[in-house]
Amino acid sequence: MQADKKDIRALSKEQLRDFFVTNGDKAFRGNQIYEWLWSKSAHSFENMTNVSKETRAMLEANFVINHVKVDTMQRSEDGTVKNAVRLHDDLIVESVLIPTKTRTTACVSSQVGCSLDCNFCATARLKRMRNLTPGEIYDQVVAIDNESKLYYDRPLSNIVFMGMGEPLMNYPNVMKAIDMITSNEGLGMSPKRITVSTSGVSKMIKKMADDDVKFNLAVSLHSAIEATRNEIMPFTKSFPLTELREALEYWYAKTKNKITYEYVVWKDINDDKASIDALVKFCKYVPCKVNLIEYNAIDDGDFQQASEQATKDYITALERNNIVVKVRKSRGKDIDAACGQLANKS
Ligand code: SAH
Repeated sequence: MQADKKDIRALSKEQLRDFFVTNGDKAFRGNQIYEWLWSKSAHSFENMTNVSKETRAMLEANFVINHVKVDTMQRSEDGTVKNAVRLHDDLIVESVLIPTKTRTTACVSSQVGCSLDCNFCATARLKRMRNLTPGEIYDQVVAIDNESKLYYDRPLSNIVFMGMGEPLMNYPNVMKAIDMITSNEGLGMSPKRITVSTSGVSKMIKKMADDDVKFNLAVSLHSAIEATRNEIMPFTKSFPLTELREALEYWYAKTKNKITYEYVVWKDINDDKASIDALVKFCKYVPCKVNLIEYNAIDDGDFQQASEQATKDYITALERNNIVVKVRKSRGKDIDAACGQLANKS
């Protein structure tokens, strides 16, 4: 039975080397298999062509490779591609390829569903079913890299952890996946091209700073007023803004890496002067920039995109205070691939 066999990608390179030594083979064999599993992204032992039949049979008897499979792929009229990715236990997560003139970005999921309860996000409705393994996160990236080469003639250039789930609630697996994505034994991508987005789990932001990570941090702020934030993102009652601020100061002191705040401006929620002033004030604590994200409606009357004037007022106030601000247009809306729309609809 497959079910009692261990997923071979849960083993470190050392453990794989030890496995072969224990079984009367050379430690070197472990390196060879490790390369197949990660940098060559083998889906099955059968594909490991330079490995003897006996070794392949032995691996087959002991392990499985819980590789993901792209179940369906949708292409948006703006070139965005959304993959519904089937996991070994038949659960589905979504990942998105976002092409621009100069880059191809992969937006990947870290959990099936989400642990958090942001009222404006479709993924939150799914609840958290389980954490993704490092291999499952890695596979999403490889799938998008291949699609990028196929459709856009260039490899993937950036990765954002902005798909389903809260990456900092699956910290060890996200870290292991990033290790493999950045390692020369995996994809060899620069951590500077990776952004982890969190809704603001303060304790884990500090942990990340302590772990001396080299990737970028984005925080989904949406309001710098405690009561408003608590209302639209109820879990933040356990993660108050004072703690978030302190964690971000800690992050910057250790990493010297600017933070990006993600922020949606909604009608009657945060489109007033007090909200703008609060954001400007919050932005002064730590070097940062602000991405104003367009709201993607998720059939919920409570949230509506604010007027263009409100967005302009934010931009004016931020720029007057020398804070870099960019407006991010939605991509892939027609296929439910935009921020906050990932909910396994198809
Ligand atoms: N849990 C992480 C990763 C998800 S990222 C986080 O919260 O950062 C997805 C981004 O899209 C977050 O900034 C989130 O706040 C934002 N988002 C969620 N729902 C949205 C919606 N309906 N429209 C626009 N942005 C949304």
